[in-house]
Amino acid sequence: MTPHLRFAPSPTGYLHYGNLRTAVLNYLYAKKHGGHFLLRLDDTDRERSTEEFAAQIAEDLRWLGFTWDGQAKQSDRTARYEAAAEQLKAAGRLYACFETPDELDRRRKRQLASGRPPIYDRAALKLTDEERARLEAEGRAPHWRFRLDNSGASGGIVPEHTNVAWDDLIRGNQTVDLGSLSDPVLIRADGTFLYTFTSVVDDIDFGITHIIRGEDHVTNTGVQVDLFKALGAKPPAIAHHALLTASGDLKMSKRSGDMALMNSRELEPMAVASYVALIGTSDAIEPMRSMDELASMLDLSHVSTSAARFDLGELKALNARFLHATPYGEVADRLTAKGIGGGEAFWLAVRGNVSVFDDVDGWWRVVDQEIAPVIEDAEFLAKAAAVLPAEPWGEATWSDWTNAVKAATGAKGKALFHPLRLALTAQESGPELKALLPLIGREKVLARLAGKTA
Ligand code: GLU
Repeated sequence: MTPHLRFAPSPTGYLHYGNLRTAVLNYLYAKKHGGHFLLRLDDTDRERSTEEFAAQIAEDLRWLGFTWDGQAKQSDRTARYEAAAEQLKAAGRLYACFETPDELDRRRKRQLASGRPPIYDRAALKLTDEERARLEAEGRAPHWRFRLDNSGASGGIVPEHTNVAWDDLIRGNQTVDLGSLSDPVLIRADGTFLYTFTSVVDDIDFGITHIIRGEDHVTNTGVQVDLFKALGAKPPAIAHHALLTASGDLKMSKRSGDMALMNSRELEPMAVASYVALIGTSDAIEPMRSMDELASMLDLSHVSTSAARFDLGELKALNARFLHATPYGEVADRLTAKGIGGGEAFWLAVRGNVSVFDDVDGWWRVVDQEIAPVIEDAEFLAKAAAVLPAEPWGEATWSDWTNAVKAATGAKGKALFHPLRLALTAQESGPELKALLPLIGREKVLARLAGKTA
């Protein structure tokens, strides 16, 4: 059977590394198993969902290299939710409630004060037809609760200890006691549906076979497994990964830009994907070059059940490692787009000294444009200029030249190389001069050795 997966963000904020991890795990699972991948926008919260957030999420995923086989949004599917709600009502699993938030709050406080668990007491189930008619006549619109299957053998109204169990693909055997939960509201008084419900209807309709999501959904899963059954469907396989925490005082939240993916465009998509896929697993975090390669590494049994700490510094270091191993063919177009004409020789010379791709600009300036040389010892540089070999230059030119400078001045080691590097690049460190020298060319080298901006 072809696996069907989905990433189901609510477009109420930006994609951050935390929810991106969920996206990547689902995407890679589908890829690894030749499955379908659906992007589903959970926009049931009409006030906070926006088209802009939805568009930004899709753009972020595209930037990362995702493709998806289908896209859906919950606001288009109201008719389906209404039909499913009717099905539950007919089965006696969805019932009208008229309590106001204040009444519920008072009831909860009374329960707590008398040492009882603050779960909904199903008072609405005890309403007579006349009472219900009177409340409706008062203009009270009902909200609707799902009657959890927790009545035990008694079949009574009072919840009894009832475990819902599933074999979690990450956490192993899991149970949630439905007897300890309030019947969840599935339809608000204004007629809008809640995620708990819409998600299950969608998962059934789209044939979702696997759900990978954060462990903040474990209790939801207990309720939703019961809902799948109430709607006559088999629940999908489910995995809950631990959540990522942000390091330092950064915030992993949809409304804080700190960890927003759209603020990471200077990074390489595959470095980002590799980091979020492998952090919090027992596998070493290595930069993979393609989604296929990364997918082949994915193993849910390697995903840890304890929180992983997201470290931006670690991601940046991974990005640098990714670039250091990037072959010219993968960046040729991007170099050309920047107007950099140095070809493969330039890229191979500088790639080991870039942390983000745009760092190539600085090295292109050194090679092709003007820099103000840093002169430590003009006399020494004049002697070096005097023994500079004639062109054509190649790989051996640097050692031929520095051997000649050494013979002419007696300088060696740092005293030999450091003033030359400062004069030729104006930097303390950088790519091997053996590779840079032929790219800079004799004319510029002579000018820089003489202290001229060139
Ligand atoms: N919209 C839900 C969320 O963002 C989806 C959870 C799920 O995968 O079912 O948390």
